[in-house]
Amino acid sequence: MKRKCSKCKNDAVTYIRYNGTHLCKVHFIQYFEKRVKKEITKQGKLENNKKIGIAVSGGKDSIVCLHLINKFFSKRKDFEIIVLTVDEGIENYRNISLKYVSENTKILDIECQIISFKKIIGKSMDEIAKSKHDIGYCSYCGVFRRLCLNYISKKLQISKLIFGHNLDDMAQSILMNFTNGDIKKLARLGPHMKIQPGLVPRMMPLRVIPEKEITLYALLKNISYHDGECPYAINAYRGIFRDIVDDLEYKNPGTRHSIIKSYDNIKDILIKKFPPIELNKCNICNEPTSQEICKVCKLKTNLKIL
Ligand code: SF4
Ligand SMILES: [Zn+2]
Ligand SMILES: [Zn+2]
Repeated sequence: MKRKCSKCKNDAVTYIRYNGTHLCKVHFIQYFEKRVKKEITKQGKLENNKKIGIAVSGGKDSIVCLHLINKFFSKRKDFEIIVLTVDEGIENYRNISLKYVSENTKILDIECQIISFKKIIGKSMDEIAKSKHDIGYCSYCGVFRRLCLNYISKKLQISKLIFGHNLDDMAQSILMNFTNGDIKKLARLGPHMKIQPGLVPRMMPLRVIPEKEITLYALLKNISYHDGECPYAINAYRGIFRDIVDDLEYKNPGTRHSIIKSYDNIKDILIKKFPPIELNKCNICNEPTSQEICKVCKLKTNLKIL
């Protein structure tokens, strides 16, 4: 027999283990959107921002995030929403996900700006992967992706950047930084309430939503997204934390929320102890950095493109 919704007489589409409720389609969507709205308010109002950028890769998290921001704010005239997509140049992966970005932005009638590694760095990720194997592909990719997003945000005068990180991502990152003893990095983990000169503050409206609920929301709302995996994704270390968090959540439903809650409760203390450092300008490119030469320039030198 089908389970009934805990809030009405309709059939349930899901069971939320961490709060023990069965929800039908309508009540699940309501429950989902309510938490995202609450999180947006908690992370600071968008009113003072003229242009909001949403980093969209084409995967489920960022595409669902785009649909929600559009749903909540598209009628607002006081700010503009722009989709920012980085094309790392990964054959059989990014070219496919870009089609989903284009399809969704067309449906929603939102401007989309694509910025490529090839244009900004001079090399695609496929070219980098062919020539370098020293520090792992994702280290290059992460640093260059941040550069691309910072570059386009400054060019378009974007005052807030929205990312689709989900609850599972956040709980893994918190545990990972804590276990590594990287407390400074932990203190800097978004969302960012304070503005640091030269950097665009980040907002993460889905940080309290479990990954599985995002997949269900996309399914119920008929939202299309790219489900592929990057051929260079061999981040075995994060995988360890994914398994730990999954196991803890299975044995003790609600653990992921507790991890985030604990983090939020100590974040002010962490920031006080590790306040944002005064950033210098990189000796080579003038971008903000805590060192004399920024990471981008170091990696570019390594790739012999400087
Ligand atoms: S898995 Fe690594 S290489 Fe692939 S897109 Fe992500 S960061 Fe880049
Ligand atoms: Zn219901
Ligand atoms: Zn530099």
